Amino acid sequence: MGKCKNITRLLSDALDRPLSAGEWIAVGLHLPTCSGCRNYRKHISLLRAASREVSGLDRTPETPSDD
Ligand SMILES: [Zn+2]
Repeated sequence: MGKCKNITRLLSDALDRPLSAGEWIAVGLHLPTCSGCRNYRKHISLLRAASREVSGLDRTPETPSDD
């Protein structure tokens, strides 16, 4: 598909800034078709949870969803 680079970048950006509607649409259209990007999303959300855990800012338990 050749979009994966864009999508993974958007997923990563989404941790730092709000995505535009168009960006979310691109992500939402792509993820169901691409297990690679779904894995990436899972991976970075785990990383984010881990870094939050380390910083101790937010101890809210977050159960990773298994789709
Ligand atoms: Zn992809």
